[in-house]
Amino acid sequence: MTAHQLILKQRAELLAVLCGGGNAEPLDCVLDLLLACEVLVWEDYLSIRVAEKPLCSNVRHLLDVVYDKGEDACSLFLAAMNQVIPEEQKAGLCFGKECAVVDKNRPDTATLTLLADRPVLVRKLRDNIDRALNALLTTGCFTIKDCDAVQLPVYTPSQQVRRLLDQVRFKGETAAKTLLQYLEQTETTRPNPEDKENHLSANCLLYQKKLRSSVAAQSHSLSTYGGTGRFSLDDIYTDSLLEVIDGSGETLTLGLEDVVGPLGTLNEEADTILVSGEAGSGKSTLLQRLHLLWAREALLTNTFLLFPFSCRKLNAEQRELSLKELLFLHCCWPDRGQDEVFQFILDHPNLALFTFDGLDEFKQGFTDEERHCCPTKQVPIPVLLFNLLQGTLMKGVMKVATSRPQAVGPSLKRYLRKEVLLKGFSPGGIDCFVKKHHSDPAMARRVIESLQANTGLLSLCHIPVFCWIVTKCHQELLGGQDVITQTITDVYLLVLQHFFQRKSPQSQGVLGKAWLEEHLDTVLKLGQLALEGLEASCYVFSGYELQRNGLTEKEVSQGFLIYCNDLSVTDCKRYEFLHITLQCFFAALYVVLNRNIDRSAVSRLFHPQYRQLSGLSQRCLGHCIDSSVEELESHVTETPNLQITAQFVSGLLSQRHHDLLLECCPIAVRERKVKQVVKSLSKGMQRHFKSIPRPVEGEKKSMHAMPSFVWLIKCIYEMQDNSIAQDTMAKLDVEHLKLTYCNIGPVECTALAYVLKYLRNPVGLQLDNNSVGDVGAEQLLPCLHICHSLYLRNNNISDEGIRKLLEKGMKCENFQKIALFNNNLTDACTQHFALLLKSKQNFLSLRLGNNNITSQGAEQLAEGLSYNQSLQFLGLWGNRIGDRGAEALAAALKNSTTLIWLSLVDNGVGSAGACALAKLISQGKTLEQLWLNKNCISREGVECLIEALKMNSSVQEVWLRGNNLSPEEEEELSKQESRLIF
Ligand code: ADP
Repeated sequence: MTAHQLILKQRAELLAVLCGGGNAEPLDCVLDLLLACEVLVWEDYLSIRVAEKPLCSNVRHLLDVVYDKGEDACSLFLAAMNQVIPEEQKAGLCFGKECAVVDKNRPDTATLTLLADRPVLVRKLRDNIDRALNALLTTGCFTIKDCDAVQLPVYTPSQQVRRLLDQVRFKGETAAKTLLQYLEQTETTRPNPEDKENHLSANCLLYQKKLRSSVAAQSHSLSTYGGTGRFSLDDIYTDSLLEVIDGSGETLTLGLEDVVGPLGTLNEEADTILVSGEAGSGKSTLLQRLHLLWAREALLTNTFLLFPFSCRKLNAEQRELSLKELLFLHCCWPDRGQDEVFQFILDHPNLALFTFDGLDEFKQGFTDEERHCCPTKQVPIPVLLFNLLQGTLMKGVMKVATSRPQAVGPSLKRYLRKEVLLKGFSPGGIDCFVKKHHSDPAMARRVIESLQANTGLLSLCHIPVFCWIVTKCHQELLGGQDVITQTITDVYLLVLQHFFQRKSPQSQGVLGKAWLEEHLDTVLKLGQLALEGLEASCYVFSGYELQRNGLTEKEVSQGFLIYCNDLSVTDCKRYEFLHITLQCFFAALYVVLNRNIDRSAVSRLFHPQYRQLSGLSQRCLGHCIDSSVEELESHVTETPNLQITAQFVSGLLSQRHHDLLLECCPIAVRERKVKQVVKSLSKGMQRHFKSIPRPVEGEKKSMHAMPSFVWLIKCIYEMQDNSIAQDTMAKLDVEHLKLTYCNIGPVECTALAYVLKYLRNPVGLQLDNNSVGDVGAEQLLPCLHICHSLYLRNNNISDEGIRKLLEKGMKCENFQKIALFNNNLTDACTQHFALLLKSKQNFLSLRLGNNNITSQGAEQLAEGLSYNQSLQFLGLWGNRIGDRGAEALAAALKNSTTLIWLSLVDNGVGSAGACALAKLISQGKTLEQLWLNKNCISREGVECLIEALKMNSSVQEVWLRGNNLSPEEEEELSKQESRLIF
């Protein structure tokens, strides 16, 4: 097909790619390239890129112009598209034959040179527009007005460069020469790191000092340790697991220093970095650590000013503010030269960093409907915040925001530079945290041992807030409870008990059995405050509100509420719960223990979409409720909290806590609530089951679970009632359960296994792309007997996790397939697979791609394979088994009567390996597909394969792309044997 035809045929797709997301950058890049290779002349460009017209109409016009210019122009356009658009958007598009760009002489005028070099210049000048403008200004080529027009904050740095180039062209040859001279100079002179300092005035330096010291004071200690004075952040901070998914879909592990760095950047034009993680995963603490290290000049050394914001505190800001007021009122007030300091920030956006903690707690969901770019105009806080995040306001200032994943919708995602996933503590991190917490090594050891003996609890400790509670409440934990601590409700009851005990008059003594009843009054008052707060997205309370709820000073000082740690200038004390999860727990206690609560309270928690604000919360927390905020929008922030509350309600109503609640709540009321929960859970599950589509003929009946499915499973787990789990699962009839990208960590694995073990028929459980890890893998054991297949691709599992999984798997009759692509497996795990293959003569599929298995591992696998007569699929793509490994596998498999598919792609296999595999072909009767792409097989090896294929009729394809063969050899050899694919 000609390029001409390709453009016509793919017009809709090309349009979609260039207009997708409303981002004009791809179009601008294509235009740069077309101008440079003279497909477009200046007049074309001006007629295409009309700012007043919608992006799509610009793109349509470009397609028309290029089409009219004939075949060469069309192929150069397709080549430009191929260069500009990211790989993941190319699927399905055809760019035609590669076209050679004709080498032209260097242009003879400066203006034309700027045009020919435009794509490179946009990249080069992006980071130093200021200096280029300065050069043009001092030589009189530009006026201040010209500079201002170029640097309007609505434009991205690349757009600013294009405007600069356009303006230079407009000014003529002298301006173009000046710019070229400037560029030549910058090529030869290295930037002087001192420059930044030289431009700083005394006022700016003074302000920086003040900001640094207030940020240091604010971030020095953790609020959960507030008041105890025992730990500074330095003493207790433990590194958590941080990951990003890069452009090619690969997961990268990050260090704290990489959060504000280039690693994992997906959108160069955006400058908001999102750190996302579940409640309690350590988002605020991570930001706090960044703040502290910046304040000490130990990290982010290129950041001159750092402004930390808390979204929950911004919620309380009723005034309209300008950017300047936001920065100075909410962070730190400059004692001198306010205008000068603010101007410095405006002039040097790249030297400032804003952080926004808890975007999910901001009462209004993100929208990009209202544009605002003026730093001095007063606007409502949501407008200010959203425009900062989008980059409409203060383009170039790096922003780091934290949020729970559920609260980030597609409208915000398009403005993200990258998303960093915070996965909590690793197993080593848990140990390290416990050791830091307990200065007595013997005590630390006891706590660690008790965790290892209770893997359900250990899996909870991956979430730092749970780890903190478990460590803090070690006495209660080690003191022997009636109920084994294993659910999050158990953990929060522990902390409740701990705080009451700490303040009880018989302080050293143990609380009596009726401890909850003794403190019922306090619990209910805190619970009411918590619930009303959650319903109104209100997490900060004034002293007046506490008083109105009847909370006495003594109750406030129990420790559940803490003072807000705040940089802003306010004169009244404000309080918040120690952690949002504790607020949810108190809300749940209120729902369960209040005899008079409205009958629909329980079901409202399980169906938040039908929720109305209760009259009470409207009255008491009036300031939190913004009447302009649509009910629907505010759900974005509330739903995850109400879901956690529902989980606690399920846990509190568990039969296990019956005795504790006995005197606090009449049995009949409790029973009614239990029924309501069970009904809601069952209904919720039914809704999921109903969404299962009918299977297409020949395909498995499969269910793709939604995140709320996992939440319901977690609620069932909290109830710890086998019959509820059993009844629910009896109604699920699928052969395949898909839970990919569902944020499944060890905690979720515990709950899943608890519930899925009651499935009636075996399923394939697909958990690819989660964070199962070794602890999670172990948690899955109780449901392994009902899994015919287990898919755990990309889950951070290592040899130890596999050992435990296979030990059990060997004994499970149904267990027949496992996929472990992209984990941390080494040769140390292959002996376990060998044992599995030896002992399980119905095992069908083993996929171990992209791990670290070498020839030694392959030899061990071969040992098991030689005894196996069931395996059909063996995948080792992307390991390092080499010739030795291939020889061992071939020898073990040559008598196989079952193997259909074998992949040794990208394994460093040479001709010796290929010749060994040839024997497998000549003797085997079942093999259909052999994948040997990306190895180093040469002609000799392929000839062995050809000889063997002459004796074999079962093999359909042998893939040999990317080996040591010339195109001529490939052509010749494929003529000899048509089943070879090069
Ligand atoms: P999130 O903001 O994700 O809800 P937080 O940062 O508030 O979570 O963490 C809750 C608690 O867990 C903290 O107050 C602290 O006690 C503990 N914690 C979290 N992250 C860490 C960490 N990296 N090191 C030590 N303790 C941590």
